[in-house]
Amino acid sequence: MDESKLPVLKLALSPPSLAELASAIRDGLQASFATTHVSVSTPPDLREAPFHLAARGLSGNARIADVGGQPNLAPSPNLNAKYDLLTISELMEMPRAGGLLIGAGAGPFHVLGRNTELMPNLAYGSASGGKVHNRTHFAKISEDGGVQCQRIGESTGFGLMCNLLGCDGEMGPLLHIKAKGRRGPANFTQTIRKAVSAVFGEKLISIGGVFVIHAGKVKLHVMPDFPKKPFADRKEVENWLRYFDADAPIVCLSVFHSGDDQELALRMEHTHCFAADGPEKEQRGGHYHFDLDESMGEIEYEGWFNVADTLYRIDQPRS
Ligand code: ZN
Repeated sequence: MDESKLPVLKLALSPPSLAELASAIRDGLQASFATTHVSVSTPPDLREAPFHLAARGLSGNARIADVGGQPNLAPSPNLNAKYDLLTISELMEMPRAGGLLIGAGAGPFHVLGRNTELMPNLAYGSASGGKVHNRTHFAKISEDGGVQCQRIGESTGFGLMCNLLGCDGEMGPLLHIKAKGRRGPANFTQTIRKAVSAVFGEKLISIGGVFVIHAGKVKLHVMPDFPKKPFADRKEVENWLRYFDADAPIVCLSVFHSGDDQELALRMEHTHCFAADGPEKEQRGGHYHFDLDESMGEIEYEGWFNVADTLYRIDQPRS
């Protein structure tokens, strides 16, 4: 497959300002969490703890891509769906001079020899001192049935599907969202999406960023290696996934949309997490579902987000 020839659908968005989004999200969060804070401000260097990004910020030409999709996993894995983050950055028309990509996707089965979860976190060029800085993690089911989450090393590959926020990796104003003590049934990203759609309705708004869970426990899943035979239905996929509880602190890379997806078959929310502390073999990581009810009183989220000006739908599966 020549990746540079993948089909790309480009959609110019006309997002609300960060201040307008902050106002909408502030209203929605207050109903769902005991303590909240939403503002537009400039973050500290996001390369540092607790965020651990590959570049210092999430500003400059923010854009979002949805690559491939779940039809590449089920009913049968599409083993032609092999991609590379740097090639995708070109299809997202990111400047060669430098940039940052973060998000949630499937690992490069063609590199790792098995199916895994991927937490893309890659800077290049001026965003990382001139060379590629790869802080991408992946999570797999280990031989003993547990989860192993670790840095991927040099590979910039991924497989099947990915949801990505791309930007110049510069420092600048972002949405700063803090929420503590969950009171409702919706998780952090659902609450933000609901708050945005309550104000902006069907208007397509695409947001991405990083959040850290400072306290509490979350439910994650990790995909095992590919099954021997095709999935019968969605329920079989859900039963095949391995679910785990993970303790804070954990870093989450997130891309989500509000409004009408304009028949692009967008994945409306996708968040992957990795723990940056502790011995590598014991690290936690996977696909974020929700925080556990047992820790809802103590759960504490803090995130930095940007809104995209442009959306790229790349290699949309035909089914
Ligand atoms: Zn996922």
